[in-house]
Amino acid sequence: MYKWNKAQQGWGASIMQVNIDTIVGLIVQEYYNHNAVSKKMMSRQKLPCTRCGTHVASTWRPGPCGTSSLCNTCGVMYMDRCTRPRMVDLVMDEGRCVWMARHQETLQWYEDREADIKDKRVLTWVRQEKERNAYVESKKRKFVEM
Ligand SMILES: [Zn+2]
Repeated sequence: MYKWNKAQQGWGASIMQVNIDTIVGLIVQEYYNHNAVSKKMMSRQKLPCTRCGTHVASTWRPGPCGTSSLCNTCGVMYMDRCTRPRMVDLVMDEGRCVWMARHQETLQWYEDREADIKDKRVLTWVRQEKERNAYVESKKRKFVEM
């Protein structure tokens, strides 16, 4: 009798667990079915897109500030493909860190928005860009002096 009770209790507890898991599963499923964010996900680092600042995207893509630093939309524009050139890029302009974009038809570059230099990934890029520029400048100077 005691054994039976024990088994019954154990069984009852596991059924309860299954029910809760099932309910949670259904709630999650419901959320994914009816929420616009459903097919989107946070970047692995849980950091926003370095260009547009969104936290959710269908996929995360590499950018000038590192892997998964751009949302899908910005990442596709940053991609350099043979069918279409890079449509956005990050540049240093007189000490400012600026996202440039190309006009869809004319492909002319224009200043799109200032990058968020509070973002550590952007700051790292700025530092590296300054190092690159300093290196190029020093090489140029040497070349001119020769
Ligand atoms: Zn973005």
